[in-house]
Amino acid sequence: MQRVAFIGLGRMGHGMAGRYLDAGFKVAVWNRSKPKAEDLIARGARWASSPEDAAIDADAVVTMVADDEASRSVWLGKTGAAAAMKAGTLAIECSTVSHAHVHELSRKLRDRGLIYIDCPVTGLPEAAASGKLTLLVGADAADLERARPYLVPLATTIRHFGAVGTGTVFKLINNLLGAVQIASLAEGVAIAEQAGLDMKLVAEALATGAVASPQVIRHSKRMIARDFSGASFTAALRRKDAAYAVLLAETLLPGVPVGRAALAAYDKASAVAPDDDEGRMIEIVSRPK
Ligand code: NAP
Repeated sequence: MQRVAFIGLGRMGHGMAGRYLDAGFKVAVWNRSKPKAEDLIARGARWASSPEDAAIDADAVVTMVADDEASRSVWLGKTGAAAAMKAGTLAIECSTVSHAHVHELSRKLRDRGLIYIDCPVTGLPEAAASGKLTLLVGADAADLERARPYLVPLATTIRHFGAVGTGTVFKLINNLLGAVQIASLAEGVAIAEQAGLDMKLVAEALATGAVASPQVIRHSKRMIARDFSGASFTAALRRKDAAYAVLLAETLLPGVPVGRAALAAYDKASAVAPDDDEGRMIEIVSRPK
């Protein structure tokens, strides 16, 4: 039986860990706060006392945590997973982290003989729980083939961008574009409301016109209705991704003024309501009622 250690049971990680249980893997789980693990334990997962404990005997360790700091801690901290992993074990980082962190972490893990798979994802928590994520992989081709049995339960699509780091480059571009779209959509919706347009018509026109990306379709309806219920991506996480993307972009280009503007919008949104759905951006750009 294939053994997976799954670390980080937030909105995304909880569903992803459940996919391994559904697929018949032997699963050990760890999360900073234990209550999120209870139902996975009831379904057969072993609760581990630390990432290190989770990684003992694992064939693959998969992590899905918030950011660079969390990733560094669960892999390389005093009781981090790396301490227990045997040479040849797969280290699959699914969290969205910075490009510089991927290179530092992958170097340190590869120095220990581990196989690093750069594997950020796209898809909302419901896609994570139903195995319908898209995986954005950066890895040597042979390493990806070794990792594939551990990726298949999570995803409908696996995109291989190239060497370690390239999956994260694409993920950060993707999420910066999302930040730009959502921040500018909030301004568009707020302008339309302020100008007294028929918002039902605006919603229909946005959802069917030339700017109707999946982000615009989803968030225009939610913003106009001020309905932020259901599975979500928080302002703080989007701000983090935009910040990592701008950092990377500025190592490659003379400047990214549009990306910087979106980051500034998310600085504001995450100062006001970091853990709320990012669609609340509409409330920040609107005039107070
Ligand atoms: P979340 O619900 O906020 O979960 C964050 C996870 O990170 C939790 O398990 C949390 O532990 C853990 N964590 C945070 N700081 C930590 C630290 N210092 N040490 C150890 N663990 C720490 O976030 P999420 O939505 O699942 O997102 C997880 C990752 O997936 C992020 O990198 C995000 O950008 C990416 N992502 C999210 C979505 C989405 O739609 N939500 C989509 C694609 C990618 P606690 O439970 O103890 O707080």
